[in-house]
Amino acid sequence: MTTSYNICISESAKTTHNVFIVSGHVSKPVSNIDNMGAKSYSGIFEYQFNDAIVRYFENERYHVPDIQYHAILASKNMGLRERVEYANEITPDLYIEIHHDSAQADDIKKASQAGENSPLWNEMSGFSVHYSENNLFPEKSRIFANIFADEMLKDGFKPNIYHVDKEGMICVDREIGIYNRISPWGLYVLNNMKSPSVVIECGTIINPHEEILLSLDDTRIKIVNAINSAINRFFELK
Ligand SMILES: [Zn+2]
Repeated sequence: MTTSYNICISESAKTTHNVFIVSGHVSKPVSNIDNMGAKSYSGIFEYQFNDAIVRYFENERYHVPDIQYHAILASKNMGLRERVEYANEITPDLYIEIHHDSAQADDIKKASQAGENSPLWNEMSGFSVHYSENNLFPEKSRIFANIFADEMLKDGFKPNIYHVDKEGMICVDREIGIYNRISPWGLYVLNNMKSPSVVIECGTIINPHEEILLSLDDTRIKIVNAINSAINRFFELK
């Protein structure tokens, strides 16, 4: 009995990877450092879009074999620091935080005044992936970011370059929407997680056309599948 138990442990230790998939923000403010996130064009808080993606990972149907998922919804109301502390206790092989994007108030106002069909909305659109050189595993984080962006592009999603063109963030590859979040654009989670980590902005919910697309199950499943394909490819590299 003891022998077979030991064999079982060593086999699973060889193949199982822990992945945290965490919904950005909280469903009610728990401290002054976290909130319900951006508002969509129609006025829905971002955390609801984030939870809609993360909820898929609570379902085994959306699990890559040999990956142990830890899905944390915003509706669990774990604050930012609490989430990071909790995740660091497990120290996953990969930490993914899910967000949906917005833009600066001035640009939103201008585009809103110009109407839903204004080309100004094109500037505020698309997905992006954020890693940090200040994370303990910058290379691995960037590798995952690259693979995920590749999967999204294959599915027809477009990269968001608003943050570099309008805000001056460091975009390491504008063709694929990958940002390096160092000061003054640092993110607490990327700086403090002791695992390869990325923040994914699945799309831009302040854009009226994109909000509709990001509300569809079909689009959400495509994003979930892109995350899973990227997880699969990432761990195959090791
Ligand atoms: Zn967010």
